[in-house]
Amino acid sequence: MKIIDAHLHFSDIASFHKTALDISNIDYSSKGLKKEFEESNIILGIGMGLTEKEREGFPDSLSNNPMNLDLEQDIPKSLVYCLGINPERLKGEEKELQIQEIKNKLEDERVVGLKIYAGYYPYYVYDKIYHPIYKLAAEHDLPVVIHTGDTYSERGLLKYSHPLAIDELAVRFRNVNFVMAHFGDPWIMDAAEIILKNSNVYADLSGLLVGDAKQVDRFMNEPLFVDHIKRGLVYTDNYFKFMFGTDWPLVQINPYIEFVKKLVPKEFHDYVFYKNAIKIFPRIKNILPLEK
Ligand SMILES: [Zn+2]
Repeated sequence: MKIIDAHLHFSDIASFHKTALDISNIDYSSKGLKKEFEESNIILGIGMGLTEKEREGFPDSLSNNPMNLDLEQDIPKSLVYCLGINPERLKGEEKELQIQEIKNKLEDERVVGLKIYAGYYPYYVYDKIYHPIYKLAAEHDLPVVIHTGDTYSERGLLKYSHPLAIDELAVRFRNVNFVMAHFGDPWIMDAAEIILKNSNVYADLSGLLVGDAKQVDRFMNEPLFVDHIKRGLVYTDNYFKFMFGTDWPLVQINPYIEFVKKLVPKEFHDYVFYKNAIKIFPRIKNILPLEK
């Protein structure tokens, strides 16, 4: 089965390096990524743009817009990406310049979406500060991926990453498609309702577990853990709205594929692991023939 990983990272972030080393046991480099992609038949990954200026600084208020993939100078050919947005620099005198920088980067055909770090940056997703971003998304037919659920930093504020905030956004911007990263976990049922209600809201199944094969194995054999996610999927009853993603380097890819296979009925694997991503990120269509 061909697979697209719809959510991973390839940025020089201290906490990602640390997790790769201490928790998930991953070679967080282009070499390590290529190896895991080959072993799991992943033909394309979607990286979430992110940068930090100071060590342990993420979420970083100083980062320039847009935030890109900066782990290594050469980005692997098997990666496309979403431009990360730093709202702290979308105000005051520099606002127009920062938006122009984002616009310029949209010319790059490997940019397939935009990414908002709700919960990391202290703004509700429907805040005016983000409106120019949604306007750009609508003009360029790009989905906006939004972090939802638990934050991978104690400095995050959960009220901003709760899935319920996406409802107001989805209603206000009906002409933009939104992807709730991590299915809102642990607020899976809230996320499921937002997805069921709004035709323009989707989700990725990345980052539901962090760790190595042993850790993934432990949780995927814990019925209460698996059922809590499955309940949301069953409630939504629409496997065309979900995409496989890992949140690499926070978790090893192969074990995570086995975990997501367990969550999704077999007849929909092709959609969740591959086809849905091409539909939700329309620009992928222009890239894919290059990967053959
Ligand atoms: Zn992520």
